[in-house]
Amino acid sequence: MTLPHINNSDRAAARGPESLAIHAGQQSDPTTGDVIPALHLSSTYVQDGIGNFRGGFEYGRSGNPTRTALERQLAAIERGAHAFSFSSGLAAEDALLRAVLRPGDEVLLGSDVYGGTFRLISRVLGPWGVNVRIVDFGNLAAVAAAIEARPPQVVWLETPSNPLLNISDILGVAALGRAAGAVVVVDNTFASPALQQPLVLGADVVVHSVTKYLGGHSDVVGGALVLNDDALAEKVRFLQFAVGAISGPHDAWLTTRGIKTLSVRMRRHSESALTLAEHLAAHPKVDRVFYPGLRDHPGHEVAARQMSAFGGVVSIALDTAANARRFAESTRLFTLAESLGGVESLVGYPDAMTHASVRGTELAVPPEVVRLSVGLETIEDLLDDVDQTLAGL
Ligand SMILES: *Cc1c(COP(=O)(O)O)cnc(C)c1O
Repeated sequence: MTLPHINNSDRAAARGPESLAIHAGQQSDPTTGDVIPALHLSSTYVQDGIGNFRGGFEYGRSGNPTRTALERQLAAIERGAHAFSFSSGLAAEDALLRAVLRPGDEVLLGSDVYGGTFRLISRVLGPWGVNVRIVDFGNLAAVAAAIEARPPQVVWLETPSNPLLNISDILGVAALGRAAGAVVVVDNTFASPALQQPLVLGADVVVHSVTKYLGGHSDVVGGALVLNDDALAEKVRFLQFAVGAISGPHDAWLTTRGIKTLSVRMRRHSESALTLAEHLAAHPKVDRVFYPGLRDHPGHEVAARQMSAFGGVVSIALDTAANARRFAESTRLFTLAESLGGVESLVGYPDAMTHASVRGTELAVPPEVVRLSVGLETIEDLLDDVDQTLAGL
């Protein structure tokens, strides 16, 4: 099976990251001159004789031109050879893990990864014989020791992590993992390729929840994998086709549209988040601010080396769990909701929301923590909102 290509003439002048985000995979239809590639809804494609496909398209699960346009755009912005689009971030993670792992294999997992990733590995793949070991990826010596003690098949890190914004040194971890023969996976959801490109730093695979910054407008649930190795790409392509957790055409089209403004959005998200983080760090009612852009963040130097800005998520710790809950329920511009990465600001209480599934495990989030996804509203309004909320505690 070959990947259908409809876009053989991406604009050759598009080389920089912003240009690639706008043009890669986005060829206009020669019959209409559409500047924006069409949304292809057809579930099946005419064959000019049995098995004689036009452009390689046969059936919507195996290929769709709108999805292909997105996959080419994703590969270009992550600087990878192959990209695959899925119906959710977790569907992408599942396809990758099943492509790589066999019963008895092990995943070495960061101690602060997205709760759903831990749930997938421990509760879905666990019964099929996959093991998981947790390590603090912020500590390279601990990672080296864990890998030496027993080489894992997969090394899985998330940086910045969700929700505590811990930073792992991608270059360092990737070198250790690859030397041990592991597949090194980076969940790049929080940074997005506009700020950080893990494949360039030596990772084997990048995972995304495109639901977050890539989609960027809280109107799509989707996931993606980007990687370079041809043999691994064939395994993932087979599972995408044979299991079928593909993104639908509407979702693929919306994601493509979101990605075109990724760079300007990430710059502004990062600017506003830094302003808010500095403001909160100086506030007497806030015990701690978790944001890698702050100089006293333990991962600041590594983050400054591997990211071009620090992203749009800021977490804070208040004095008590009760005040953290009250804060999350009292903001007026920050909307209380799951998810992050959209143009609108959101507030979440991880312990009982996004990370409820890891309560009581090594990955549990302290109950005093509140997570803020800093949107693109006027910064003064966001500062006023948190000030008024803190004043009411
Ligand atoms: C949301 C999220 C996921 C899961 O993605 P879905 O699209 O919700 O399936 C994975 N990793 C991170 C870091 C996330 O924030």
